[in-house]
Amino acid sequence: MSGYRDLLARVKGEIDEIGATEAAALSDAPLFVDVRDHEEWDEGHIPGAVHLPRSNLESRVEGLLPERDRTLVVYCAGGSRSAFAARTLGELGYTDARSLAGGFTDWKRNGFPVQLPRSLDADKRSRYSRHLLIPEVGEEGQLRLLDSKVLLIGAGGLGSPASLYLAAAGVGRIGIVDADVVDASNLQRQIVHSTEELGRPKVDSARAAVQALNPDVEVRTYEERLTSENVDRIFGEGWDVIVDGADNFPTRYLVNDASVWHDIPVVHGSIYRFEGQVTVFEPHHGPCYRCLFPSPPPPELAPSCAEGGVLGVLPGIIGSLQANEALKLALGIGETLVGRLLLFDALRTEFTEVALRRDPACPVCGDSPSITEYVDYVEFCAGRVPA
Ligand SMILES: [Zn+2]
Repeated sequence: MSGYRDLLARVKGEIDEIGATEAAALSDAPLFVDVRDHEEWDEGHIPGAVHLPRSNLESRVEGLLPERDRTLVVYCAGGSRSAFAARTLGELGYTDARSLAGGFTDWKRNGFPVQLPRSLDADKRSRYSRHLLIPEVGEEGQLRLLDSKVLLIGAGGLGSPASLYLAAAGVGRIGIVDADVVDASNLQRQIVHSTEELGRPKVDSARAAVQALNPDVEVRTYEERLTSENVDRIFGEGWDVIVDGADNFPTRYLVNDASVWHDIPVVHGSIYRFEGQVTVFEPHHGPCYRCLFPSPPPPELAPSCAEGGVLGVLPGIIGSLQANEALKLALGIGETLVGRLLLFDALRTEFTEVALRRDPACPVCGDSPSITEYVDYVEFCAGRVPA
């Protein structure tokens, strides 16, 4: 009676085997065919290999391996399953299917290249399951989000919902720039902070909230006011998107100029009483803030929230819209607000949209820019420095 060992020996006698060193040195690069199970493949495989689990080899092979005359190096973990697979491939008309002796184990042991496929682990599959269900996001999109880096200017009204939703969505790195401490008057709208955080730096309070929500997120904090002196250092840390929640004009102009020079898209938001606006400034693909507002309004006509007030929920709406734009930019999906200014009137519950165009004469992003280095933004916005 012939057992498994005899059968394997017989099959190995009918096929060609090839060692790892020999396979790696083949002058005509062979096509590696991995016949292991999904779990084994997920733990690493030979770069460029085709995954064709032996359990459905016969039914799937023609779609995956259309060229029957190409040299195939079939492998499994140790060289047994691949021997049977190589014989099957021969029977199916593949003229040069060889089995990798010693399998993937030997390949790895000899130090040949191994590709570790990226995939979400069980915890992340569960946490982001509602993203995985959306075809436009899926596992690939979620991995992209986990690789993405978003910088928030301000941990105030707009930065609160933006930071929480971006963190919940699994944006891998979130930077927060804010020099203030949590004040009682913030808590009517700045929901990333809480009563027990009163007096703490906003960046610390926001970091604690974000990390409590999602430990997958790395938080970088900058407890400083954004200035011409520090902006290159902070913007130079590889951000994919900037979410601007600044509440003052000098910072807005500074963020604009620096983002054009660093080529980083900015999701702009602003709020006042019952009105909010959102748009995306993508350098060289649409207008910048200066294309719209070459010079700031006179200080007496530019009240801040501190002076003019704001309905508590309004930054929740506008900041969430900013998070939506940031996620689309990070994922590369949908249609962003580039070239469109979205206005929201909370009293009428009404959205309106205004088309925006890049100004070829813009002093910063125009065809022959007149501003090429940082100015004194406080003086500029006080109307004391001509731009
Ligand atoms: Zn411009």
